[in-house]
Amino acid sequence: MTTTRMTTSQQLRNAYTEITDRIANAAIRAGRAANDVLMIAVTKSATPDQIRMLVDLGHHELGESRLDQLEKRVATLEEYLSRKRTLGAGSTRETIDPAKAATHVRWHMIGNLQRNKVKHVVPLVHMIHSVNSLRLAEELQNFGNKRDEPIDVLLQVNASGESSKSGVAVPAVSHLVEQMDTMLNLRVRGLMTMAPLTDDVEVVRRTFLRTAEVFNEVKSENLGGEHFTALSMGMSHDFELAIECGANVVRIGRALFGEPPEPPPEVPPEVPPEVPEVSA
Ligand SMILES: *Cc1c(COP(=O)(O)O)cnc(C)c1O
Repeated sequence: MTTTRMTTSQQLRNAYTEITDRIANAAIRAGRAANDVLMIAVTKSATPDQIRMLVDLGHHELGESRLDQLEKRVATLEEYLSRKRTLGAGSTRETIDPAKAATHVRWHMIGNLQRNKVKHVVPLVHMIHSVNSLRLAEELQNFGNKRDEPIDVLLQVNASGESSKSGVAVPAVSHLVEQMDTMLNLRVRGLMTMAPLTDDVEVVRRTFLRTAEVFNEVKSENLGGEHFTALSMGMSHDFELAIECGANVVRIGRALFGEPPEPPPEVPPEVPPEVPEVSA
């Protein structure tokens, strides 16, 4: 049991080191500082143990795409972190570098958000990456009346034109950012996009470049205000390309935590063997 835990911990540490190195190198190749890119660890496929281990490695930024999962993970991790805060770094596991181990994390909502879920999601997260309509922005603005702080959001862009993808079309972006910038309970922090699911690197690159282009347009025209600085694009299989195209936020799941476990095969219910009737 201990052996499995140690192996997993070592594997996660290796994956984390590898990913952060690759992110830093991609940033340098793009002529930027090695620490210019924020990595959000997407915990969709992670076990609670893996999440704790990552936090113990000093990682603070976590992402989820579904409200039910988010609620569960926030609750489980918060329990662990509050225990850690009470006990102090000295009492935590040996593998932890007490100087780095995080006792606070920030959650990012990266998945589709329904308007009737706003009140549940906002209190749990640091930022919402997936604002994909004016109506959702307005819902957030209304909910924001109840808070002291504006809600940090990204506008999700559909830059590939796929009808299956969520997000606003590229030509609508600057006007929508301008409108959102007038909503005092929102702070529009930048743009988010997802590349199409394809092995064609040029298609992916085009999607990222289009998004980067409209991001720079909005910035140069100062439509989103001084907080408009984040370009969130790139996942496990395309984050280096995204960084080369200008991303300064990447969202990484499987490259850190591995593929999600297969659901267990359906086992047909056992049929009890027929018991021959015993006559006396
Ligand atoms: C799941 C997900 C990710 C992470 O995907 P990986 O391929 O596991 O890295 C990033 N962004 C969004 C919006 C997601 O839903």
